[in-house]
Amino acid sequence: MNVAVLGAGVVGVASAWYLREAGYDVRVLDRQPAAGMETSYANGGQISVSHAEPWANPGAVAKILKWLGREDAPLLFRLRADPHQWLWGLRFLAECLPGRNHSNARQLLRLGLYSRAMLRELRASTGIEYDHLERGILQFYTSQAELAASARAAERMRAFGSDRTIKTPDECIAIEPALAAMRTRLAGGSYSASDETGDAHKFTQALAALCAGRGVRFDTGATIQRIVAEGDQVTEIEIAGRGAVRADAYVLSLGSYSPMLARPVGISLAIYPAKGYSVTMPVQNPSAAWTVSLTDESHKLVLSRLGERLRIAGTAELAGYDTSINEKRCRAILDRTLELFPGAGDPAHVQFWAGLRPATPSNIPYIGRTRLRNLFLNTGHGTLGWTHACGSGRALADIISGRKPLVDFNFT
Ligand SMILES: Cc1cc2nc3c(=O)[nH]c(=O)nc-3n(C[C@H](O)[C@H](O)[C@H](O)COP(=O)(O)OP(=O)(O)OC[C@H]3O[C@@H](n4cnc5c(N)ncnc54)[C@H](O)[C@@H]3O)c2cc1C
Repeated sequence: MNVAVLGAGVVGVASAWYLREAGYDVRVLDRQPAAGMETSYANGGQISVSHAEPWANPGAVAKILKWLGREDAPLLFRLRADPHQWLWGLRFLAECLPGRNHSNARQLLRLGLYSRAMLRELRASTGIEYDHLERGILQFYTSQAELAASARAAERMRAFGSDRTIKTPDECIAIEPALAAMRTRLAGGSYSASDETGDAHKFTQALAALCAGRGVRFDTGATIQRIVAEGDQVTEIEIAGRGAVRADAYVLSLGSYSPMLARPVGISLAIYPAKGYSVTMPVQNPSAAWTVSLTDESHKLVLSRLGERLRIAGTAELAGYDTSINEKRCRAILDRTLELFPGAGDPAHVQFWAGLRPATPSNIPYIGRTRLRNLFLNTGHGTLGWTHACGSGRALADIISGRKPLVDFNFT
């Protein structure tokens, strides 16, 4: 059986890997010249299983209103005359209710635990290298009120199976000595020792190479224009300037662009692009630089160590499909980093990047079947696509093979 995977981001390539493992003939199509060139290119690097609470939470609305119109806001809604944005926003509000938020967090944690296990298995079986570190994730706080809220969240996540525990400032510094530079401001932290980090772009490209070595075909520079359906099935995919591609089954993994291709065949996906930025710079002073992955909760920034590079990522702007780089928002990330960790990185060699998270209102991705019997979804992973890629890919391969996935999750 032939399967065409549409999209060669981290999610599409992981799907291709597990489908090939399951014995399918797999072909991957992407408009870029190589795998992992869009949102999977320069993300925060965290395999964040335990710090997986969705943005939609009971406290989010007040914060978003406070930040409206602020150029350096961690989460910024730029309201547009776009019905998809408004509808998405209304659904987001519904997901902020405590019951919804708890159920979403639980599902994200389950998928994360499974996904991390799959990633570890993949690493052990292939030796794949992507600057990975298994030093945990430490979310740090500069406000006692936020630390107290985090203690409640950590308790809830522990009940769901996470290893997250609250740490005093001294314990935080013992875990990550670079935090000593901000000792006087540190209120405490929330640490999950089993979380990991790694370069999603390197991983995607290395996994694509492993896939190719096992016979997966990659059609790069292939812009998908249309999914053609007749009756209850997809008949072909139209590629700009190259004609049609036919397969027995199709997997939609086009990140933020999935809804545009799905809508004409009657499949409505609540995915909206949440633009984020990252800053990457070489390590300057190793003793001032972190190796444990950190999250600066008050500024919603994640800080990872990728080999000899420091990656700081964050902010979310709901403003459509514009991928241009807003220098002001990137500078704000850089300034905050250098203020907290003076000397850690070399700002003379900084790289700015912007990407569009394929965000659903609940942060729960679409994985599974559609009303078209040979069209499957693996998309909408929002803030956690790197964390959830392997588990989602494996679960989808199981679904296509007619097996029950080994993770308790509300599949589409
Ligand atoms: C600033 C930032 C920080 C982040 N930090 C983290 C983190 O620390 N941990 C984590 O788990 N996640 C993180 N994420 C989220 C994560 O990066 C995404 O969820 C993930 O990369 C999505 O992967 P994807 O394969 O679904 O999408 P993509 O990587 O965007 O892949 C989709 C592919 O589809 C292709 N495509 C789209 N349209 C077409 C078309 N018409 N024809 C052909 N090809 C097409 C694109 O070229 C692309 O290669 C972060 C995201 C951002 C923006």
